[in-house]
Amino acid sequence: MIGAGPAGLMAAEVLVLRTRYREARPWLTPALTDFGPAALRAWALDLGITTFVGTSGRVFPQEMKAAPMLRAWLQRLRRQGVRFHMRHRWTGWGPQSELRFSAPEGLRAVRAQATVLALGGASWSRLGSDGAWVPWLRAQGVEVAELQPSNCGFDVDWSEHLRARFEGAPLKSVALEWDEGPAQTPTRRRQLGEFVVTATGMEGSLIYAASAALRERLRSVGSATCWVDLLPARTAESVLAEVTRGRGTRSLSTHLKSRLGLDGVKMGLLHELLTRQEMLDGPTLARTIKRLPIALQGPRPIDEAISSAGGVAAHAVDERLMLQRLRGVFCAGEMLDWEAPTGGYLLTACFATGRWAGEGAVRWLNLPPSDAARSLG
Ligand SMILES: Cc1cc2nc3c(=O)[nH]c(=O)nc-3n(C[C@H](O)[C@H](O)[C@H](O)COP(=O)(O)OP(=O)(O)OC[C@H]3O[C@@H](n4cnc5c(N)ncnc54)[C@H](O)[C@@H]3O)c2cc1C
Repeated sequence: MIGAGPAGLMAAEVLVLRTRYREARPWLTPALTDFGPAALRAWALDLGITTFVGTSGRVFPQEMKAAPMLRAWLQRLRRQGVRFHMRHRWTGWGPQSELRFSAPEGLRAVRAQATVLALGGASWSRLGSDGAWVPWLRAQGVEVAELQPSNCGFDVDWSEHLRARFEGAPLKSVALEWDEGPAQTPTRRRQLGEFVVTATGMEGSLIYAASAALRERLRSVGSATCWVDLLPARTAESVLAEVTRGRGTRSLSTHLKSRLGLDGVKMGLLHELLTRQEMLDGPTLARTIKRLPIALQGPRPIDEAISSAGGVAAHAVDERLMLQRLRGVFCAGEMLDWEAPTGGYLLTACFATGRWAGEGAVRWLNLPPSDAARSLG
């Protein structure tokens, strides 16, 4: 097992349990392959971690902390017999197909009957996932799609004024619209949420949700725009009515704040986008409040992204995630070519593929199935 992220740990657990327990339980196979929320909760509970299902349907640890779960998981893995080789950096395969590691004591070569690669993507490389494996797999004839930023921020050419005044300001309770799919026949998407204005552009969960589509649009068309509804709870008609309502001697800012609650960074963005004259034109102002266009220049660098898109191509692995070109070598987690929004979807897929690859390695090694799998399902 190379890589001790969630995918690697899950694959290790499946493998070590299958080596320890020998009783056949084929009827558990569907549960092992289907690691849904119920299975995840049972698995966590088995670790002594109670969970709850939030209003979004997502599963959270009761303590709202990941560290106790990780600690309990590592302790259990050690008890079960998983041996961790810390500060071992895999550096690819040697001429005899041996795994090569740079270890504290020097270079180590390891021959393995089965290998699960769970090396992550290339974001936050200081945590160890640096994507160095990409050329090593490609050199073995494995198709690997270019790693790209996913769940990432985007650069916007803000004015110095906006940057100075509103860097770090959150835009709460807004809606984002963006186009997905082919440029000629796009599908308009809309989502409520929040994001933050940064020195270089925009960042945050709402932007991440649109990041795959926006990144693809930038790649294919060379430009991308998203639109912000600053007042999603109000209809366009009511916004227009309030904007054009007589304001007497009150300034426009005071009027918009008192009638629509618009101030701070929301007003900053309106001033950024509209000329003084346009601000005074009721229909233009109302339209922009409901659909403020923001032109994106490009995604932030992959190292800043929450996750990576790209990776080992789907057709480069078999149904058990074993590489077609390298028999006995399995891949799991974010290094596979998929992407998903944050909010648990990434971890869920990492857990699931880690289990799947671990199961694949169990079969490859022809190990007898065990009833221990029940504690995982
Ligand atoms: C700041 C941040 C917040 C996130 N929040 C969420 C969230 O809220 N919900 C969610 O679902 N996901 C979230 N994610 C994403 C999630 O953490 C990842 O998708 C997940 O950790 C990927 O799991 P993995 O096991 O595939 O890879 P990783 O977790 O990246 O683990 C890979 C491991 O392999 C090791 N490795 C890499 N190369 C080598 C090598 N050559 N030799 C030896 N070891 C190597 C790395 O050091 C690392 O320990 C977040 C990510 C970040 C950065």
